[in-house]
Amino acid sequence: MGSITVGVLALQGAFYEHLQLLKKAAASLAESQGPAASQWEFIEVRTEKQLDSCDALILPGGESTTISLVAARSNLLEPLRDFVKLHRKPTWGTCAGLILLAESANRTKKGGQELIGGLDVRVNRNHFGRQTESFQAPLDLPFLAAGEQGQPSPFTGVFIRAPVVEKILPNQDGIQVEENQREETVVAPSREAKDQAAKEAMDKHVEVLAKLPGRAERLATTGVDIDAEKEAGDIIAVKQGNVFGTSFHPELTDDPRIHAWWLRQVQEAVNKRRNAQSLPLR
Ligand code: GLN
Repeated sequence: MGSITVGVLALQGAFYEHLQLLKKAAASLAESQGPAASQWEFIEVRTEKQLDSCDALILPGGESTTISLVAARSNLLEPLRDFVKLHRKPTWGTCAGLILLAESANRTKKGGQELIGGLDVRVNRNHFGRQTESFQAPLDLPFLAAGEQGQPSPFTGVFIRAPVVEKILPNQDGIQVEENQREETVVAPSREAKDQAAKEAMDKHVEVLAKLPGRAERLATTGVDIDAEKEAGDIIAVKQGNVFGTSFHPELTDDPRIHAWWLRQVQEAVNKRRNAQSLPLR
C-alpha cells in the first residue's frame, strides 16, 4: 500500500499545532501497529492542488469567519465541499473547523460567512460566551477505549469561544430550506453524492461521541431542582460517516490520543477505498 497523505487547512488558526500532534500520533501508531503501520505524509493545504493530493483533511480551530473568507478568496470553498460531501474523504474539524463542517450554524450574520457542511447538525457558535470565558475540562471520551484496556484516562478539553452541537438535523431533503428560514443562521449548500460508496456514506446518521456534563451533574449533589433532561449536557463531539467534529482543541494539548484514533479511522477508510479501486470491474 502506498503512503497516506493527510492535509491540514493552513489558512488561519492552529494548523501548525495539528501537524505536530499528527506526527506524534503517527509515531505512536508505528510503535503499536508494527509492520502493519501506514506511511504518513502530513502537509499544509493552501491551494486546490495541495487539497487534491490529500486522502484526508483537518480543519483547525481559529476563526471560522476568517477561514471561510480566505477560503473563498483562494477559490477553495467549492473544492473543499467536493472533498467532504462528494468524494466523502475523511475530514475532521476542531472548534472553528466544526462550525465550517456543520450544515447549519447560528449566531451568524446572513451572508457573513459560508459553510462547507457535511455534518447534519446545527451548531451554536460561542456557546459558552466570550474569550475570557474560555476554560479547560477533563473529558470522558469512551470512543478512545477502542483497542485499549479498561477506561481511558480523561482527556483535557480546551474550550475557546467554542461551539456546541445544539441540534442534530434529520437526514432528509429540504432540511436546508427549513434551517435557512431561521434568523442569524447560515446553511451549507447541499451536494449530490457521486457514486454508490458516497451515497452510502451520506446515509449515515450522526453519532454523538461525547458530551460535556451539564449543570445537572454539577448541581446533583446540591439538591437544586432542575430539569435534568434539558441539562443533560452539551454535545461536543460528533461523527457522521467520514466527517468528525469536536468543539474543543485537542491540538492545543500534547495528548495525541484523538489524533491517533482518527488516523486509524483514516487508515481504514483509505484502505477500503484503495481496495475497492483495485477490484476488477464486473
Ligand atoms: N468562535 C470561533 C468561531 O466562530 C471559534 C473559536 C475557536 O476555534 N477557538 O469561529
